[in-house]
Amino acid sequence: MVTEAPYYHQTYQESDVFLHAFRNRIPLLLKGPTGTGKSRFVEYMAHTTGQKLITVSCHEETSSTDLIGRYIIKGAETVWVDGPLTTAVREGAILYLDEVAEARPDVIVAIHSLTDHRRELFIDKLGETVKANENFMLIASFNPGYQRGFKELKPSTRQRFVALNFAYPEAKIETEILVNETGVDKDIAKKLVSIGGKIRNLIELGLSETVSTRLLVDAAKLIHSGLPKRLSCHVAIVEPLSDDEQARESLKDLIDLMI
Ligand code: ADP
Repeated sequence: MVTEAPYYHQTYQESDVFLHAFRNRIPLLLKGPTGTGKSRFVEYMAHTTGQKLITVSCHEETSSTDLIGRYIIKGAETVWVDGPLTTAVREGAILYLDEVAEARPDVIVAIHSLTDHRRELFIDKLGETVKANENFMLIASFNPGYQRGFKELKPSTRQRFVALNFAYPEAKIETEILVNETGVDKDIAKKLVSIGGKIRNLIELGLSETVSTRLLVDAAKLIHSGLPKRLSCHVAIVEPLSDDEQARESLKDLIDLMI
């Protein structure tokens, strides 16, 4: 259970979309680059609706067995243990599959019958079909950025979801997020947001991912706890973004001019 209300700044009507999707038993797909508030939004909505939240961070080894469950050996016995998907389906929780496109293809197969009118899960190892509890909700996120060239979500999968697009918030909202999240001075927050905006426009540096709200929040936290401003930006923004010496030097020069 998400017991404390997480801070989440709404940017459009995403909570209405969530509530209506939930009411209509339609799964939700959150698209957008890393660090744009997708996970925070899910926590916030789990708290708002009073639903239990189970999060699975998917990676290339995540398989349907990890989600559905497996037999384990306990002493002299073999016992079945439900995985997070089965638990959520039985108990009626929100299951959040973070970065679902990273998972093995059998994960997508496993969730298919849960994403249409059947709302049921077939557990082949038990020969059992479980009807989803009415409060079960499936949410998945994916980052269209990193999928470039390799892992994509197939249209037939995407079309089983209602989708929300997450992007970097406009400057005023992002400044408010930094102040609220870290307690940093508003002027510093504004400067960090301008740095973020500048770097996001620097396509010529060829960064595979650009500066996210998360990185700006980290820089703000370091500054607020007393680390020098430029050093905070170098370690929270520049180093995580690039290993290329020239790109790093350019980013550092830009930051030193702005803060
Ligand atoms: P994602 O799941 O998209 O990778 P997160 O939800 O983990 O991103 O967000 C990263 C951080 O950015 C959060 O911990 C929070 O500090 C901040 N953040 C981003 N967007 C928002 C928002 N709309 N409201 C509040 N905090 C936000």
